[in-house]
Amino acid sequence: MPLMKSWVTSANDAAHPFPLNNLPYGVFSTAGTEERCGVAIGDMILDLYAAEEAGLVAVSDSPVFDVPYWNDFMDLGSEAWKALRARLIEILAEGSADRAAAEACLVPMAEATLHMPVAVSEYTDFYAGRHHAFNVGTMFRGPENALPPNWLHIPIGYNGRASSVYVSGTEVRRPWGQLKGPNDEMPRWAPSARFDIELEMGAIVGTASDRPITVQEADDNIFGYVLLNDWSARDIQAWEYQPLGPFQAKATATSISPWIVTKAALEPFRCDTPEREFELLDHIKDCGPMLYDIDLEVTLAPEGKPATTIARTNYNEMYYSAAQQLAHHSTAGSPMNVGDLLGSGTISGPEKQNRGSLLELSWGGKEPLTLDTGEARSFIADGDTLTLIGNARGDGFTIGFGDCVGTLLPALEDPYAR
Ligand code: CA
Repeated sequence: MPLMKSWVTSANDAAHPFPLNNLPYGVFSTAGTEERCGVAIGDMILDLYAAEEAGLVAVSDSPVFDVPYWNDFMDLGSEAWKALRARLIEILAEGSADRAAAEACLVPMAEATLHMPVAVSEYTDFYAGRHHAFNVGTMFRGPENALPPNWLHIPIGYNGRASSVYVSGTEVRRPWGQLKGPNDEMPRWAPSARFDIELEMGAIVGTASDRPITVQEADDNIFGYVLLNDWSARDIQAWEYQPLGPFQAKATATSISPWIVTKAALEPFRCDTPEREFELLDHIKDCGPMLYDIDLEVTLAPEGKPATTIARTNYNEMYYSAAQQLAHHSTAGSPMNVGDLLGSGTISGPEKQNRGSLLELSWGGKEPLTLDTGEARSFIADGDTLTLIGNARGDGFTIGFGDCVGTLLPALEDPYAR
């Protein structure tokens, strides 16, 4: 598929993240407007509430874009998803008869503040990247026991906190927690000294289900994808994780990129999951290409200093697709809701420079990274800004996600001090 040309000329650059082929959905406000739904096109946002009021788009009898989330629209179903995308392409394409009316609804992105694009119902995080699971397992348990016995048979995960999912740009505060290092006789209470990122993709559920669903149904129910940084306190995690998995280590914050890139936009980038070591059971068996070829990158910028790229990998490194994760999530009868967010698990590749967490990049702190500024890092320092970047590269166009950015603030005083 080639670049689709728009009369919004900034959208026609082969390297621009938001061409007409993309049309990602977000929520924005400006000095003069309340939060509402919008779609990115080049350097502009099409104000969908204004477009709805002007009669340019009509997806329902009552307005759905005057609210600060996409949940109401997602709830209209996949026929409405298709219809809106087709109509937006018609409005924004070169030579469109609706250009004048649509121009009146455009807002420069530089004048907009971006907000959470979705009201997150529940957040679940998986652990489905093989290289990451192997690396972390090797550090925690040795290479012989790196992958737990269930790992090649089910996408393992835990139920996280929807209440601490934040949009890109939200600052993150270093947490306090109960820690017990290998040389500590007893646990102690201190700020986390091994605060980390996890480079992940988030899948957003757009169609609810109330029974076990197939992988194909799960793929149909996914609305779109975001970049996701699952901030992780490794020292809290190492002490608390056995046997029930992460708890406070992952509760501080999860950041997502501000634009939901739809499944329709990612269609040309579908790819297969890897060869299976064991045949999967029917409920999560592969039934088509359900991963995506998306280049991913992480940069780290110390406070007031330039950024260094610390990792490059690709979403196609996952062992399980989001559809398989969603299908597995439904097996025991739990309803899945519109707005549920599923983290993929950290996406690492085979080489050292492909590792999606500092824990792996610095091998548990034993091999600190050297940044372009000359500074060393094993984990995140106060004031560091971490940025996740995602781009699917087509023939003459790019499907970008919009960066997922977060700065780590120093720990506050002990919250329990008297
Ligand atoms: Ca994670």
